[in-house]
Amino acid sequence: MAKNNDELLKNVISHAKEYGFVFPSSEIYDGLSAVYDYGQLGAELKNNIKTYWWKAMVQMNENIVGIDSAIFMHPKIWKASGHVDGFNDPMIDNKDSKKRYRADQLLEDKITRYLKDGKSDKAENLQKAMDEALKAEDLPQLKLLIEEHEIACPVSGTRNWTEVRQFNLMFSTQFGAMAEGSDEVYLRPETAQGIFVNFLNVQKSGRMKIPFGIAQIGKAFRNEVIARQFIMRMREFEQMEMQFFVAPGTEMAWFAHWKQARLKWHLALGTSPDKYHFHNHVKLAHYANAATDIEFEFPFGFKEVEGIHSRTDFDLSQHQQFSGKKMQYFDAEVDETTGKPRGNYIPYVIETSIGLDRMFLLTLINAFEEQDLSTEDKTDSRTLLRLHPALAPYKVAIFPLTKKDGLPEKAREIMNTLKYDFNCIYEEKDAIGKRYRRMDAVGTPFCVTVDHQTLEDNTVTIRHRDSMEQERVAITNLPKIIGDLVSWKTLLE
Ligand code: ATP
Repeated sequence: MAKNNDELLKNVISHAKEYGFVFPSSEIYDGLSAVYDYGQLGAELKNNIKTYWWKAMVQMNENIVGIDSAIFMHPKIWKASGHVDGFNDPMIDNKDSKKRYRADQLLEDKITRYLKDGKSDKAENLQKAMDEALKAEDLPQLKLLIEEHEIACPVSGTRNWTEVRQFNLMFSTQFGAMAEGSDEVYLRPETAQGIFVNFLNVQKSGRMKIPFGIAQIGKAFRNEVIARQFIMRMREFEQMEMQFFVAPGTEMAWFAHWKQARLKWHLALGTSPDKYHFHNHVKLAHYANAATDIEFEFPFGFKEVEGIHSRTDFDLSQHQQFSGKKMQYFDAEVDETTGKPRGNYIPYVIETSIGLDRMFLLTLINAFEEQDLSTEDKTDSRTLLRLHPALAPYKVAIFPLTKKDGLPEKAREIMNTLKYDFNCIYEEKDAIGKRYRRMDAVGTPFCVTVDHQTLEDNTVTIRHRDSMEQERVAITNLPKIIGDLVSWKTLLE
């Protein structure tokens, strides 16, 4: 059983692989760094998290609609958004180990070390110096700090460093069949820009009135300098973003609204509130006038899962300037402060942006439990995924007690009535106890066992994952018992 946090993460990673949730990408070729594949159960869980988000954002809000924009976009978009010039990480290489690091992360690790050693003055000074250097994009100064604080490469142990260089995180590729004359395009580093450039299309075709939101789920790509902690920091990942367009001057109220609404979404899954906190940004990006992160307590500390940003009219204004197309909205509503219609303006934007893969990891870690079931007579344990039933990959497992006497046929008959509404799995191999444990390990909330009595009176035993309790129920009651617990309503209400 997991004794500490390192071990917990390790156990979750190996559990995820063993049961078909997450595999390293291209594993038979020794993998591809920071790229992962979702297996048969991972794909189900991921889809369920997406569905929960989409329903909560789009279906539950009359003024939010969802789109699905392309990954390839006009290269000028990334000029306008600031990504071509500003989406950089400062990196440095150790000449002996040939390992590459983010200069700011080396410094941050040093600050953490100072704090651990009780040298808070040193930590504070270094933090200040680093913040200033990062803000001024003073790369030689970052190098100087690394030297002054005698930071060595964790691999080679030497201080033989290259200069610090800026490294753009966007992947680029060639568009069109001919290498010559073809344009360089980028794989999008965020889904948000696909929403901004479609703002007027959606507003006009959907006759949307401000305030309204556009949501989207999709892949994003970042050439992270160093990737670590499993699916926390990947080079190909998925985002679930919503841009909410509001009248200028109303953005702070909406920022507060979405902060609370998003936290509520997380907590509805039953997670303990002390596992979450807001981390308000003190230093704001140039386009933002407020920003906060929703952080979750991972085994490696509190880390961002979701960002909520008040982005002003920065993005739409930039696109207006770069495309030459008006990005204005005409608002006939009366402004209470002036008593006049608001008229034409470029809307302000509140954005909620959550990483699907980080949410997936959070969900697995939160659900993972190694339970000691030992009694005086024998030692026993089980590994359990206490997933919210609405998120569970399988809702119900159907087991014939034995492989004969018509029990498999009866079990399949029951499955054929349930499979339209619930994702079911049929298993007839191994003893019932073993089959239960396997289902516990993948988070299946219900196991239904078909025995000889079933053939006589059309009742089955249904076994509950968390309590391990079993009850005898009529087959006709199964849809209601299962449906009540796995319904999206339990989360959305
Ligand atoms: P970080 O500071 O951790 O790099 P960020 O502030 O750059 O994250 P945003 O640009 O705000 O992240 O992206 C929104 C969300 O997308 C993040 O909260 C996170 O959940 C997710 N995300 C960002 N980068 C990655 C990545 N490399 N791998 C997985 N998820 C990511």
